[in-house]
Amino acid sequence: MLTKYSNFYKNNVFRLSVEVFPPKTETGVNSLVEELEKIKKINPAYVSVTYGAMGSTRNLTGDLVVRIQSELQIPTAFHFTCVGLGKGAIKDYVNHLHDQNINLVVGLRGDKPSEDYQAPEDGFSYANELVSYLKTIHDFSIAVAGYPEKHIEAPSLEVDIDNLKRKVDAGADVIITQLFYNNNLFYDWLDKIRQKGIQIPVIPGIMPILSLKQISRITSLCGATLPKDLLKDLESHQEDAEATLKIGEDFAANQCLDLKANGLPGAHLYSLNKSRACLKISESL
Ligand code: FAD
Repeated sequence: MLTKYSNFYKNNVFRLSVEVFPPKTETGVNSLVEELEKIKKINPAYVSVTYGAMGSTRNLTGDLVVRIQSELQIPTAFHFTCVGLGKGAIKDYVNHLHDQNINLVVGLRGDKPSEDYQAPEDGFSYANELVSYLKTIHDFSIAVAGYPEKHIEAPSLEVDIDNLKRKVDAGADVIITQLFYNNNLFYDWLDKIRQKGIQIPVIPGIMPILSLKQISRITSLCGATLPKDLLKDLESHQEDAEATLKIGEDFAANQCLDLKANGLPGAHLYSLNKSRACLKISESL
């Protein structure tokens, strides 16, 4: 039977899923596999593998997804962005992975390479169109991206939520959110999307912080905010790598505990290819 996201979120058990990115070298892949062997011990619902901007990791992503699922026996999802691609190239890529028993997709438009980017004539401008198209190819189980602090291009949160609804109506099974560090803000957004009639599972995206420099860069790119107290804590320990890791792990673990207490079905951990925080969070839960 083909794997579906909905299978993971039954029985009211809070499930962790883990996102990794494909390393560019063989050594990098081997050390990621070692990290995943440790992550396997926490019984993740699934691992997802990101897809580099404009397909820069197209083959690396595909190969890694197949390797994780077949060697490590962990259900694995592939991220896929459709920017720059026409239907034929999309179909070839997803068919190849479907042939290898990969049925979980994180279906995305991806970042536009430039302000005035236009999709190819037989391509797609937005993720809802990709979701509809994927559904005509196979009965993929599709996760789409949600943005509790609004997608950077969207004129307002309300418009962004209307656009999220289009992806759900096109056949998405689950929403995975952009990373955030303020659970209350996430709960407000969740209320809003539920009021709009979006009823599928929402899996909050949690990124344990590894360094102040790195998280400052990531949040400035994706528009997520860092709470003042967390920022202050990170700034006062920025020369101490171990203390920074501990702040990041504790913060993420507390976020997950709160999400679990508030009835969320799970959390998607942006692991940055490191197992330590995932293990710590699982232990706290
Ligand atoms: P869309 O849902 O198409 O939204 C893009 C913008 O267009 C939004 O502002 C939205 O409000 C608006 N919009 C949507 N539909 C319509 C419509 N029909 N009409 C008018 N406006 C519309 N990037 C990568 O490169 N690789 C990855 O592996 C990757 N993984 C990700 C995983 C998650 C869980 C998340 C949250 C993000 C990920 N990203 C990844 C980043 C993502 O590619 C960018 O945020 C991208 O800019 C938007 O992709 P999307 O699928 O959300 O686009």
